[in-house]
Amino acid sequence: MSGPFIYPVRDIVGHPGEMREFQSTTEVPEKWGEGLVSVPQGETLELAVRLESVHEGILVTADMATEYSGVCGRCLTDIVQPLEVEFQELFGYPGEEVTDFDVQDDHVDLENLVRDSIVLSLPFQPVCQPDCPGLDPATGERLTATAAPEIPIDERWAALKALTPDQDGEAPRRAVSDTEKS
Ligand SMILES: [Zn+2]
Repeated sequence: MSGPFIYPVRDIVGHPGEMREFQSTTEVPEKWGEGLVSVPQGETLELAVRLESVHEGILVTADMATEYSGVCGRCLTDIVQPLEVEFQELFGYPGEEVTDFDVQDDHVDLENLVRDSIVLSLPFQPVCQPDCPGLDPATGERLTATAAPEIPIDERWAALKALTPDQDGEAPRRAVSDTEKS
């Protein structure tokens, strides 16, 4: 049994306190995720895995880093974003503890856990930027390319605005000039 997600545990089984660490870079074997974004087949996946022998079995801690791609849920722009995920799971010895995962013979197979951890952490509503303005409701054009548009102010409101301190605009500008002075 071998593969990028199969880790040998023969030498630490039954030796509580023993630990092994592995670092590897592999490729995602198939497309992971079915939503607006997914991790494509062949995408680089970095894995850092720690296997600790405990009385009940093997405690597996894994850190994963990869990239997902797809489209922004608001403006449909193509996006590629880094993704870091981790999990910790106890692989029990067969027939001893009731756990979701078992040590199999001389190894643990992490593929399902790695895949599920990554798929579950993919954003359900991915955005190209936190304040993506989406599409213009009138024209269907993307509003992303230009800076967030100024909302046109009715002249009557503009007159009122001139009389009241502008909480949104003034504060940052003042902060900038203070910094420049010092
Ligand atoms: Zn967007």
